[in-house]
Amino acid sequence: MISNLDFYNPVRLVGGPGCLKNYTGWRNFGRRCIIICGKRSARASGALADCEQGLKSAGVDYIIFDRIEPNPLLSTCFESGKKASIFGAEFVIGIGGGSPLDAAKACAMFALNPDLAPIDIFAKSAELSALPIIAVPTTAGTGSEVTPYSILTVPEIENKRSFSSEKTYPKVAFLDPAYTYSLPDAVTASCTADALSHAVEGYFSLKANTLTDALAEKATVLLSGGLRRIAAGDKTPGFRADMLYGSTLSGMVISRTGTGFVHACGYMLTYHQGIPHGHANAYFLADFVGLMAEKSPERAKNILSACGVDAPQGLHELLAQVLPLDFQADAGTLKKYAAVAAASKNCKNTLRTVDEAELLSVYTKNCGVR
Ligand code: NAP
Ligand code: ZN
Repeated sequence: MISNLDFYNPVRLVGGPGCLKNYTGWRNFGRRCIIICGKRSARASGALADCEQGLKSAGVDYIIFDRIEPNPLLSTCFESGKKASIFGAEFVIGIGGGSPLDAAKACAMFALNPDLAPIDIFAKSAELSALPIIAVPTTAGTGSEVTPYSILTVPEIENKRSFSSEKTYPKVAFLDPAYTYSLPDAVTASCTADALSHAVEGYFSLKANTLTDALAEKATVLLSGGLRRIAAGDKTPGFRADMLYGSTLSGMVISRTGTGFVHACGYMLTYHQGIPHGHANAYFLADFVGLMAEKSPERAKNILSACGVDAPQGLHELLAQVLPLDFQADAGTLKKYAAVAAASKNCKNTLRTVDEAELLSVYTKNCGVR
C-alpha cells in the first residue's frame, strides 16, 4: 500500500465560517495586492467585502480587476497581469469560481513577466516566477484552490489550454461555505458534477496511489450524495459545507493525478457549445467508468459503490436527474470533437487508454442525433 505513495500539496487550508473575514495575516504577503474576480459573484457571495475589510485593517493597498469571464480568456488574464505589474502588486487574491482562481494564477505569473508573449506561458510556465496567490473559492467544483493548474481559453486553437507550475499552487485557500450560498441551482449542479468527475477520473489515473484513492473515495461518497441532495432541493448550510469539502478533496486528488478523457471531451462542448464545464463532463462520466471497468473491474466496483449505484448507467441517471443531458450534434461535428479530444494527453493518463474511434463512440452515444 505505502510502497506507491507519492503525494505533495503545499496549500495551507483554512476553513469554516468567518475564516477569511477573521484573517489577520495579510501583511505576511506584502503591502500591495491585486484582487482578481468575476463581474458579480465575488460581491454577491460576500467574499469581496470580507476580503477588503481585512486588507484595509491590515493596511494593505489593493486594486480590483473584476472582469474575469467564465472560462477565462488568455488575453484577459494577460491584461490583469499588466495591471498588477504597473500597480506593483506583491501578491494576488483570486475570489470566485474556477475561472477567477485560474485567472489569478495566470495574473500572478504575467505580473512578474509582463513582457512575455501571452501564448508562451504554456510552454515556459515551469521556469517562470509568479507572485504568491491566495484563493477564495465561491463555487464547490473545480478544486482550483488546491491545484497548480490554470485552464485558459485560447481562441487561436479553438480550445482550452492549461499550464501549471510549482509557483502556481495557492499559498492559502480560505474555505468558507457561506460564499457558496448565493450559487444558482444550475451552477451548483454543474460544479458538483465537475468535482465528482475529478474524484472519479483521478481514481483511474495511472498516477493514483493509496492516499489519492482514500481522498477520491471519500469525495465520491460526499459528491454523489450531493447530487441526490440537489435533486431533493437541499440548500442547507450542511449541504454547502459537504460540497465544498468534497470539491477540495477532489482537487487534492487531481493535483496529483490529473484528469482523464471526460475533461478532454467536455472541453469541446464548453468551447464550441457554451455548456458549463461540469455540466459538459457529466455527459461522459458514466461511460468513462464503463470503459475503465474493462481494465480494472475492482476499482470500478468500488467507485460505483461509493456513488451508491451498481452500474455505470445508474451514475448516468443520477447525473441526468440534476443536469439536462440532451445536447445533440451531427456526426461530422462529433468526429471533429473526437479527433481533438483524442489528441489530449488526458487520454493516455488512465489505467485504460482510449483512442479516437472509442471517443467517437462515446460522443455518438451521448450526443449523437437521435
Ligand atoms: P466559474 O466559471 O468560475 O463561474 C460560473 C458562474 O457562476 C459565473 O457566472 C460566476 O459569476 C458564477 N458564480 C460563481 N460563484 C458564485 C456565487 N457564489 N454566487 C453566485 N454566482 C456565482 O465556474 P466554475 O465551474 O467554478 O469554474 C469553471 C472553470 O474552472 C473552467 O474554466 C474550468 O476549465 C476550470 N477548472 C479548473 C480546474 C483547476 O484545477 N484549476 C479544475 C476544473 C475546472 P462571476 O462571473 O460573476 O464570477
Ligand atoms: Zn473539472
